[in-house]
Amino acid sequence: MTTATEAADAAVGVASGLLIDGAWITTEATFDVLDPATGELIARVADAEVAHGLAALDSIDAAAPGWARVPLRERAEILRRAFEAVTAQREEYARLISAEMGKPLAEARAEVDYGAEFLRWYAEEAVRPDSEYRRSPDGGSRLLVSRRPVGPCLLITPWNFPLAMATRKVAAALAAGCTAIIKPAPQTPLTTIKFAQTLLEVGLPKGVLNVVNTLDAPGVCGALLADGRIRKVSFTGSTAVGRVLISQCGPNVIRPSMELGGNAPFIVDVDADLARAVDGAMVAKMRNMGEACTAANRFLVHRSVAEEFSSMLAQRMAALTVGHGLREGTEVGPVIDETAREKLGGLVADAVARGAEIRTGGRPIDGPGTFFEPTVLTAVPADARMFGDEIFGPVAGVTVFDDLEEAVRLANATEYGLVAYLYSGDVERALRTAERLDFGMVGLNRALVSNAAAPFGGIKQSGLGREGGREGINDYLDLQYIAIDA
Ligand code: NAP
Repeated sequence: MTTATEAADAAVGVASGLLIDGAWITTEATFDVLDPATGELIARVADAEVAHGLAALDSIDAAAPGWARVPLRERAEILRRAFEAVTAQREEYARLISAEMGKPLAEARAEVDYGAEFLRWYAEEAVRPDSEYRRSPDGGSRLLVSRRPVGPCLLITPWNFPLAMATRKVAAALAAGCTAIIKPAPQTPLTTIKFAQTLLEVGLPKGVLNVVNTLDAPGVCGALLADGRIRKVSFTGSTAVGRVLISQCGPNVIRPSMELGGNAPFIVDVDADLARAVDGAMVAKMRNMGEACTAANRFLVHRSVAEEFSSMLAQRMAALTVGHGLREGTEVGPVIDETAREKLGGLVADAVARGAEIRTGGRPIDGPGTFFEPTVLTAVPADARMFGDEIFGPVAGVTVFDDLEEAVRLANATEYGLVAYLYSGDVERALRTAERLDFGMVGLNRALVSNAAAPFGGIKQSGLGREGGREGINDYLDLQYIAIDA
């Protein structure tokens, strides 16, 4: 049995303060970081007030001109060393992520690999040519088009991928020459703090990155956005909070990048390879216990294969090992907190009241920690709440369609547009269908779209901008064009 001490052990050596101008600052107020598998205390961390946030802003504002002038290769080398350091500490990072977030170690290791990859990718992107020399069509002038860092940034991250969400933003910002304050989610601040420690160890100059943990995100972030010196905010989290932040960007015309919620359809067409589709469904649904913006939220399956698909999926879900994330062999950890668990119970009850059938699971698991049974429901009607809300947990709802026209209509019937999955035996039909899906990303016979080299992001109310790929760095760069009379 994994003990609370083992979870707390994972945090040994991790600072507990705020990182302001290169120093770890303690505060009178603190908040607790808990192990979601046991509810036990892992660590107490500093809780910033508005004044701490403004001190961090002074720091990144003062560091901004110097960091923007650091040669590209030097910035790239720092990111490359950070990649090496995070990779060398893969196990320590994985244990820490698992302890504070709850995910199984195997998934935490995968997050470390994925998160580290953004450091390597942006170490490489940092040195790509950033300017262009053009000739005016009328022959009268030359146009020099170059890119420059947008300036001080505010980066706000959620709890579900505490390392990867931080590296995805920080690496792109630093590569572009921006300084930044990062505000981690209060459930999982320790991974971000450790990452900041790693960056300092590999030579990031003081002031370039500040870390502000707080229980008062609206107060602290609101003050930072109202100040006028923040030039860009990059947020990953819920659409509800994203809307608030976008409106707070208005008065100072701050550039927003928003990675918001999703409601991913997972379409299984009549000729799909069912074994492959079920393997994919397990990944798209159960990665991170379903607590991912990319999680399959609605299984839309062709009527003629729906029963076979559903019973295969239910069998696989029922066979999963649920337990403490730090225990080797665990496949499903707890959900993040009691509110999340209660929400799952409510979504299942609502679907059942509307006629859905529970094929496996359906209930919270008794005992310490916030565990919920891996669950499969069939005959979920389109108006069930679980098809409208993000489920964010190990619950899969299946409904049927009769032809692809109907599947596309059902898939697009959401205000979200992050990712869709499509399993099909006909590549040409699948490609044509993918183009009609109103989503920023589509997985074709593939259930994992996250990739540091790809532009990750959504359309509609799933967000603005892209992270990763060649595109991700552009969110942190402004264009400047110089007209030359030549
Ligand atoms: P959340 O409640 O929106 O919180 C995200 C972050 O924003 C937390 O650090 C939170 O701190 C902070 N926050 C809340 N209100 C704020 C405010 N008024 N001003 C500034 N910061 C504020 O989301 P969550 O529940 O942690 O994360 C789950 C959501 O993230 C899901 O909707 C999921 O789809 C989305 N997500 C999207 C992506 C993507 O790339 N598209 C990736 C991962 C997750 P507090 O907790 O202290 O409020």
